[in-house]
Amino acid sequence: MPCIQSLLSKAKDKLATSSDSAALDAEVLMCHVLGKPRSYLRAWPEKTLNASEIDAYWQLIELRQQGQPVAYITGQKEFWSRDFIVTQDVLIPRPDTEILIELALTLIPEHQPAKIIDLGTGSGIIAITLAAERPLANIIATDQSVAALTCAKSNATRHETNNVSFINSNWFNQIPISQFDLIISNPPYIAEDDIHLQQGDLRFEPQSALRAKDQGLSDIKIIISEARNHLKIHGYLLIEHGYNQEQQMQKLFADFNYQQITTYQDYANQPRVTLGRWHG
Ligand code: GLN
Repeated sequence: MPCIQSLLSKAKDKLATSSDSAALDAEVLMCHVLGKPRSYLRAWPEKTLNASEIDAYWQLIELRQQGQPVAYITGQKEFWSRDFIVTQDVLIPRPDTEILIELALTLIPEHQPAKIIDLGTGSGIIAITLAAERPLANIIATDQSVAALTCAKSNATRHETNNVSFINSNWFNQIPISQFDLIISNPPYIAEDDIHLQQGDLRFEPQSALRAKDQGLSDIKIIISEARNHLKIHGYLLIEHGYNQEQQMQKLFADFNYQQITTYQDYANQPRVTLGRWHG
């Protein structure tokens, strides 16, 4: 029977043409089959797998060869050091979005209550991470997709979150007029004709979570405009956006009279998040 090391090396070769992270993908899928962490692969490279494990492994490698994202195959993805359940109804969590969390944590003091809303929560990573890091905060997570909310709710259960409530809403449509300290969102922002939508993992992700009309800005415009009715005086609006949308974001925030407008870069040094403060 082949051992872990030889299977990994064969799988890596098989994935070389279909993935730019072939070695990592081969390892993550192996861990999924074995139900072990990655450290196990290093510790036991000579360990042999039984026939059914080998079978299961090649089936997963085959799916990956066909282009399926690893997170959809394993049904999970790590974000901010927590494992989240991921279904095909939600966007796969990206490291880029961690900058949103980092900024939100600087805005929301740890030992004070705060009201936060996460618009278009998808798998729930933003709302649930903030809920865990700020236990006194009261958080609403919305999505217009019922299937996405089901996924987000299972993540809330998994992480024993009790300070997030979920509302099925198209942006602010179902949100009672109330006042938030922070409105946060990773909305769809890719232009409809962007070629990236035809490439890699994006082909498999829900298009409604990725693309927006008006060069990717249509949903962002709704959020920036309507957030004014839902923010407290001195509340914050924090939005993730495309690396090429910094200027338009700055202009939109300014046109709608936000103050202290600042764009921040993600870990790949791309402009990724714009923050504005509402002074009424
Ligand atoms: N950052 C993602 C990408 O470019 C898109 C996420 C989104 O549209 N909100 O792949």
